[in-house]
Amino acid sequence: MTSTDHPLLAGLPALLPGLRDLYEDLHAHPELSFQEKRTAQVVADRLRGQGWEVTAGVGGTGVVGVLRNGEGPTVLLRADMDALPVKEETGLAYASTATAVNETGETVPVMHACGHDMHVTCLLGATQLLAANPDTWRGTVLAVFQPAEEVGGAPVMIEDGFLERFPRADVCLAQHVAPLPVGYAGTRHGTVMAASDNLHVRLFGKGGHGSAPETTVDPVVMAAAVIMRLQTVVAREIGATQMAVVTVGAVQAGTKENIIPDTAELKINIRSAGPAVREQVVSAVKRIIRSEAMASAAPREPEITELHTFPVTVNDPAATDQVLTAMARVVGSERAFTMPQPVTGSEDFGTFGAALQVPSVFWFYGALDPEIFDGFQLADLVTEGRLPDVPSSHSPRFAPLAGPAIETGVRLMLSAASEWLTHPAAS
Ligand code: ZN
Ligand code: ZN
Repeated sequence: MTSTDHPLLAGLPALLPGLRDLYEDLHAHPELSFQEKRTAQVVADRLRGQGWEVTAGVGGTGVVGVLRNGEGPTVLLRADMDALPVKEETGLAYASTATAVNETGETVPVMHACGHDMHVTCLLGATQLLAANPDTWRGTVLAVFQPAEEVGGAPVMIEDGFLERFPRADVCLAQHVAPLPVGYAGTRHGTVMAASDNLHVRLFGKGGHGSAPETTVDPVVMAAAVIMRLQTVVAREIGATQMAVVTVGAVQAGTKENIIPDTAELKINIRSAGPAVREQVVSAVKRIIRSEAMASAAPREPEITELHTFPVTVNDPAATDQVLTAMARVVGSERAFTMPQPVTGSEDFGTFGAALQVPSVFWFYGALDPEIFDGFQLADLVTEGRLPDVPSSHSPRFAPLAGPAIETGVRLMLSAASEWLTHPAAS
């Protein structure tokens, strides 16, 4: 603890061993999006034990805690709870061996590969200190434990009456672990994360014997042509200063080498950093799919289904200044940085601020062991946007350094919140 710490943080060292146990427990019991039943139960029990007013089952498995502590602003703090269908390869003593049945009925391995177990742990540490130190702040805090960030759980909470059922926040705050050494934290003004659009495409051909392709319309060749031509969207249609990514993450067709199938399916992920470029990329992708089907003499137009989408995540500039100030208090001004460009990943956190029409800020903080970095230089990241070569989020080897990452995450969350909460001494 340093002398510049907010008094809200008093008592944090004593909580850390318990938070570490909580983190290891959550890490060993990951749950897929919208299946976070056990996690939600752990969260609800802890919040109740800390003295929070708790509502469970918001937007499926979401949990919302409310703590009213006199006159003052309302601050929303959010953590996401879901894990991913990834087989853990960290070798940690508390590594996950869990499996679950996904939405299409397959049994898949499950891992907290995005670090949402860290977000839950840090927010539960923050809620405990808020409840334990009521004399150090005034206002209302909303602790939102959101399901299914990976597939867009935030809009589902909003549709479940979130705006009417809970006190209206004046500001929304959330953080995400990053593949950087623990002790660094960063964010940016304006767009901080890309929009994400996801398409499921079904291409129609005409099946037949593999020895007589002239009697068929081969959807495998059609899919291959689509995939190759999609590589030109960002390279040939988007300006060099714009940010966009097109990835075909899944291709499925056929069962056997000598049968030409009837159909082929693709799953496409599109990232973009602004509404104009988003519109341009999505329409180019659809145009290419339809045109390649036509070029192949497909008997039917392709079916293009839009899966979940995420809007761009936009940080309010003035609120971001406040968060950067709070960040500098926690990690030191030389380790609190402004990101040069938005991250190409996406988030649904912005949904809360957009629905409430209030400022929101999303930031990142380093969670990995500094020892695994080969001479980390912040300048490489900030001036050149170069990410270090270490296992990042969604990797089966993504392994936050639990102790220091938990302490940093709790301190960042509370220091940021204290920028808005009223200080009784000062009022
Ligand atoms: Zn993720
Ligand atoms: Zn995540």
